[in-house]
Amino acid sequence: MFNFKSYARAGSVQEAIQLLGQNPEAHLIAGGTDMLVKLHKGKAQFDHLVDIHDIAELNYITQNDANDIIIGPLTSFTQVAESELICKRIPVLSQAVLTIGGPQVRNMATIGGNLCNGVPSADSATPLIALNAAVTIEGRDGSRQMPLESFFLGPSQVALEQDEILTAITITRDNYTDYFGHFHKYAMREAMDISTIGCSAVCKINDGTLQDLRLAFGVAAPVPIRCKGTEDKVRGRKISPKLLTDIANNVPSDVRPRTSWRAAKDFRLQIITTLAHRVVEQAILSAGGTIQ
Ligand SMILES: Cc1cc2nc3c(=O)[nH]c(=O)nc-3n(C[C@H](O)[C@H](O)[C@H](O)COP(=O)(O)OP(=O)(O)OC[C@H]3O[C@@H](n4cnc5c(N)ncnc54)[C@H](O)[C@@H]3O)c2cc1C
Repeated sequence: MFNFKSYARAGSVQEAIQLLGQNPEAHLIAGGTDMLVKLHKGKAQFDHLVDIHDIAELNYITQNDANDIIIGPLTSFTQVAESELICKRIPVLSQAVLTIGGPQVRNMATIGGNLCNGVPSADSATPLIALNAAVTIEGRDGSRQMPLESFFLGPSQVALEQDEILTAITITRDNYTDYFGHFHKYAMREAMDISTIGCSAVCKINDGTLQDLRLAFGVAAPVPIRCKGTEDKVRGRKISPKLLTDIANNVPSDVRPRTSWRAAKDFRLQIITTLAHRVVEQAILSAGGTIQ
């Protein structure tokens, strides 16, 4: 089946860090839905595995005293989709994770693994980036926190050392209060398919004005990306059909799609402008806004 040279199951974060530190070739496995597929297809060779799947302290969805939402990396997509807190406070995330794989995959796949795998098609990435999420990383020298947006360095590259573990995903209260969002995934099939383009928008509106907008795309650049140029241009404007057209016309200047076997660059650009219009429109409507 798989010819590992060694396999260790860690019972705590500290033990996992220690096991990784003991062997520079060791690699973490969580739900295994990316790793085992890569191994099966011979796309990667990991001889030494450290399994963190049973570390209970990494599987949680909670709020701290400041009402920030904190998600453990071992939380499965089924748990995220069924969380009352997430469905109530940040439904754009549960909307996105319900498009991932099928029920069996969602039971095994973890949100931490989705981010750490580092692919631009990670469907949990754009809603979290649109919510200004931060990640906590632990290693032998202690822990550090960084914006999720900066965590992605390139295709399959993330800001993690070999013996480091992502231990928390945090969305602070001010980044989700009074914000409403929408997610759309364009893929060739309705289910069991990887994104050709993923799009998330969250907005805050007030008295017919777009007070704030955060717009993020997956597979529109080598990493999941925010459209900050467009956001800055439309923040504070009156909500109108022209506003949506201007957003759609402006996003090409924020993205860098490429041609791959899934879609040509021009086709992706077409989808990006169409989704920018549609997804922002849906986010405004879910905020109780009208577009006239
Ligand atoms: C049939 C199928 C359909 C799929 N469909 C989709 C889809 O529609 N959308 C989508 O986005 N993905 C999809 N995936 C991909 C996959 O399910 C997800 O990326 C999943 O979230 C990976 O999580 P995991 O726990 O299984 O990761 P693993 O395979 O265990 O690990 C993935 C990578 O992340 C690292 N890692 C995991 N956890 C941590 C941590 N806490 N700290 C540091 N590093 C860590 C591992 O070392 C490894 O490099 C699909 C996969 C399959 C098999």
